[in-house]
Amino acid sequence: MELSPNQVRLMMLRVADAIIEAEPLLSQADRDLGDGDHGLGMKRGMEAVKTQLEPMEPSSVEQVFVTTGTAMMTSMGGASGAIFGTVFRAGGKALAGRAAFDAEGLALLLEAALEGVMKRGGAKPGDKTMIDAVAPAAAKARESITLALSAALTAVAAAAEAGKEASKAMIAQFGRAKTLGEACLGFPDAGACSVVIMLSTMRDYANV
Ligand code: ADP
Ligand code: MG
Repeated sequence: MELSPNQVRLMMLRVADAIIEAEPLLSQADRDLGDGDHGLGMKRGMEAVKTQLEPMEPSSVEQVFVTTGTAMMTSMGGASGAIFGTVFRAGGKALAGRAAFDAEGLALLLEAALEGVMKRGGAKPGDKTMIDAVAPAAAKARESITLALSAALTAVAAAAEAGKEASKAMIAQFGRAKTLGEACLGFPDAGACSVVIMLSTMRDYANV
């Protein structure tokens, strides 16, 4: 089971709608860590993604993901615009030349996204950022390359969710939450919550 470029476009439009719908939840998650702008930033980014993807007739999987990342990067600004823009731009570029999106492509996307974000922002696993959802997701995707994309996404979304849960026990080393110290214990990282919503929506699209 694999997805065509147009199916990937439709999947990413679902992701955009899911993030827009989750804005209150994402805003609250960021507020719990002393800030609060994550939900509105992601919503703005996903509205820009929809504007780009709705009329698109994609010629490649790479094009859909890179366009998603560019739209986020140019519309959101701030730390998360650069971070989430890099996820899809670096991840998408790793799919150059692949005709369809399959479980191996999912691993390439997540591994390149992780590498790109770590290089760009300087955070590492355990710092209570979205990396704590992406890193276990990328590792699970690598283990799942022989599975159907639908099964791989089910395993990968579960790994991201477990990573988001694990971020509750971490003390933030980046962003506004850094100033909270131990007061951020018990709350998941907001960006990790976004990653879980994205991967769960991709899972649901692939499992129809
Ligand atoms: P801002 O930090 O500008 O307020 P947002 O609130 O939209 O931006 O996004 C915050 C999220 O961005 C955090 O929850 C975290 O997941 C992610 N983030 C911030 N800095 C980094 C970084 N250096 N590396 C990876 N992710 C980061
Ligand atoms: Mg914020």
